[in-house]
Amino acid sequence: MEVFNNKGECCGCGLCTTVCKKNAIVMKEDSKGFIYPEINEELCIQCGMCTKICSYNSEEIFNTPIESYAALTKNKRVLSKSASGGVFATIAEQFIKSGGWVCGSVMEFKKGIATCYHRVTNKLNDIEKMQGSKYVQSDITDALPEIKQLISKKEKILFCGTPCQVSAVKKMAADYDELYTIDIICHGVPSVHLYNEFLKCKSSKNREICDFLFRDKSKGKGFKAKLVEEINGKKTEKIYPAHLLSYYHYFLKSLIYRENCYVCKYAKEARCSDMTIGDYWGIQKIFEGKIKMDFDQSWSCVMINDQKGKILLKNTQSAFELVRTQLNDIKQGNAQLSRPSQRTEERERILNLFENKGYKAVEKDFKRKLGLKYYGLLLRNYIYGR
Ligand SMILES: Cc1cc2nc3c(=O)[nH]c(=O)nc-3n(C[C@H](O)[C@H](O)[C@H](O)COP(=O)(O)OP(=O)(O)OC[C@H]3O[C@@H](n4cnc5c(N)ncnc54)[C@H](O)[C@@H]3O)c2cc1C
Repeated sequence: MEVFNNKGECCGCGLCTTVCKKNAIVMKEDSKGFIYPEINEELCIQCGMCTKICSYNSEEIFNTPIESYAALTKNKRVLSKSASGGVFATIAEQFIKSGGWVCGSVMEFKKGIATCYHRVTNKLNDIEKMQGSKYVQSDITDALPEIKQLISKKEKILFCGTPCQVSAVKKMAADYDELYTIDIICHGVPSVHLYNEFLKCKSSKNREICDFLFRDKSKGKGFKAKLVEEINGKKTEKIYPAHLLSYYHYFLKSLIYRENCYVCKYAKEARCSDMTIGDYWGIQKIFEGKIKMDFDQSWSCVMINDQKGKILLKNTQSAFELVRTQLNDIKQGNAQLSRPSQRTEERERILNLFENKGYKAVEKDFKRKLGLKYYGLLLRNYIYGR
C-alpha cells in the first residue's frame, strides 16, 4: 500500500503518520533528500486512514480574500528580524499575550548541521526564533500531535506555515473554532538534506556554522544571507547577496523544490487559511506619488480570507502602518497567487547532479556556469557589500 500515487501528490506534511494507529508510517528521505511517508507493510492493517486524511485526496474549502493590505510593523526590533513587514511576529506576540499558543518554523544548528521544524509555544521569548523565512522545508510532523493535544485541552492556537502545512493542520483540527491560521505565499521548498550539503561547502576549515539567516537586513532590504560561524566560542559573520550562493540562487529560480511544489494546488488567489502574508513586491510602483510610504522598508502584503483573519488583524492593527490595497496589485508582483512555480529540465539536471555526484559537484557547476563573473561578483560583494 502507498499513501500517495506519485510524488506530486505529497507535500511531506506527515499528517498520515499521526492517524496511523499501528505506527506503521515513518517519514523517510528519498535519494534527493525530500521526505515522504513510508509504510511498514508488516504493521499496516490496510485501514486506509492515511490516504483518507491526506489533503490531496479530498476537497477542501478555499476562500477568496475579502480585504488586502500593505503592512509594516511600527516595532523596529520586530522589523529587523522579520523577512518582510513583521506581520507574523506582531500577531504572534499579541496572540500569546491574550493566552494563546503559537506554532511557527524555527531553525537550529547542532555541530554545524541545521534542522528546520515547527515549534509550538506559549512563551513570548520563542517568537524571535520563529521570525524570518527559512527557505527550506520545515518539518511539522512533531508539531501535529502537540497541536492535537492543545485542541483536546480547548486551547487557542495560531499556526503559521506554507499553505500545504496549513491545510494539514486544518484537516487534523476538523472545524475547531479556536484554531487560527496564517499561510505564507510560497513558491516552493527544497530539502533540508540539500541545504545541509550546501552549508558544508560554505563552511570554513576548523569552523562550525551556528546560524544562517536568509533575509538579513543589516545592509538593507532584499535577498541577502548571513552566515555565522563559530570557533572556540568566537563568532564570525559573512553576508552574501543571494546570487552568489548556489543554493539561494537556485531556490529563487525555482530549481530545487519538492515535486508537488510544481503542481501546487494552493498556488492561487483563493486561500485555505484565515490570513495570507507575503512580501509586497512592486509596492513602490503602486503607491509612489499617491501615498507617503517608506519604500526603503520591506513591506508585507496581507490578505484577509475570512472572519478569523479579520479578528487577527483587528487585534493588532494599531501596531502597524496599514494601507488598504487591491488583491490584483499584490498579484502583479507575486506569480504564486496565480500559478505554481514552473518545473524545468534544469531542475532535473541540478538535482540529478546532486543525487549522483553530491553537492560539491553542484557548487562546481554553479561557479563554472558563472565563469569569471563569479569572481567579479565576489569582489563586488567584498568592496561594496552587494
Ligand atoms: C519557503 C518560502 C517561500 C516563500 N515564497 C514567497 C513568495 O513566493 N512570495 C512572497 O511574497 N513571499 C514568500 N515567502 C514569505 C516571505 O518570505 C515572508 O515569510 C512573509 O512575507 C512573512 O514575513 P513577516 O515579516 O510577516 O514574518 P516572518 O517573521 O518573516 O515570518 C516568519 C514565519 O513564517 C513561517 N515560515 C518561515 N519559514 C518557513 C518554512 N520554511 N516553512 C513554513 N513556514 C515558514 C513561520 O511560521 C515563521 O514563524 C516565502 C517564505 C518561505 C518560508
